[in-house]
Amino acid sequence: MFQFCSLYSGSSGNCSFLQTNTTKILIDAGESAKKIEEALKKIDIEPSSIDGIFITHEHSDHIKGLGIFAKKFQIPVYANKETWDAMPKQKEKLEESIINTFTFSPFTIGDIKVEPFSIPHDAANPCGFNFYHENKKMSIATDIGHISESVIKHLSNSSFLLLEANYEPEILKCSHYPYLLKQRIKGPNGHLSNTEAGQTISYLTNYGLKNVMLGHLSKENNFPELAYKTVVEELMEHNIEENLIHLSVASRYEVSNMIDVS
Ligand SMILES: [Zn+2]
Ligand SMILES: [Zn+2]
Repeated sequence: MFQFCSLYSGSSGNCSFLQTNTTKILIDAGESAKKIEEALKKIDIEPSSIDGIFITHEHSDHIKGLGIFAKKFQIPVYANKETWDAMPKQKEKLEESIINTFTFSPFTIGDIKVEPFSIPHDAANPCGFNFYHENKKMSIATDIGHISESVIKHLSNSSFLLLEANYEPEILKCSHYPYLLKQRIKGPNGHLSNTEAGQTISYLTNYGLKNVMLGHLSKENNFPELAYKTVVEELMEHNIEENLIHLSVASRYEVSNMIDVS
């Protein structure tokens, strides 16, 4: 068994769940501890059975409930040094014994191999994750300003990918966001647009990608049907048949289906 489920996804809060028969992990804890507990209850997972929480970066939509949730259930938390240094308020809630620091070298937790990789985003040392179990690979990549060669290399040969499709440029252009915020979102260290997500997915279908969940959608500058449709159009433009790849959109508030990574 190698299963993934998005508990919350979007610019307001992110938390994902991954399990094998013997190991359960969360990626990010960007909703309140109470809401994370509620979501886990919906999929029948006891919070205290979680073996580790992996943090991508320190923005509040990824760590909001971290300190309280991890402390309450004594769950080990894994982040890199720069990310720990950038979230002192969350860190001070945790006992030393559950604080773990990783580098960009792969390591294992239970029967899952974890490979963090660097992503271009305006945080201290943001990362995406590859997870490996029994020759299967899946990836999580949200909050990406642009798709660098290194990001593409890391996402190759993943069969399942949670990929950011944050905004639609035309909506962003007309939105009431201040000019500098708009520049930040579409800049090289901001977020990924629907079209960029579609192009990335089109490319990766040549490298083993079979199943994609679009995530981290902006509340103001995107909506699920548009993200989905834009990605499908990109696939068609690249002559990729729709049935070659399973595409879904993670909900902002709802727990997704449990995806079997195969
Ligand atoms: Zn971020
Ligand atoms: Zn984010």
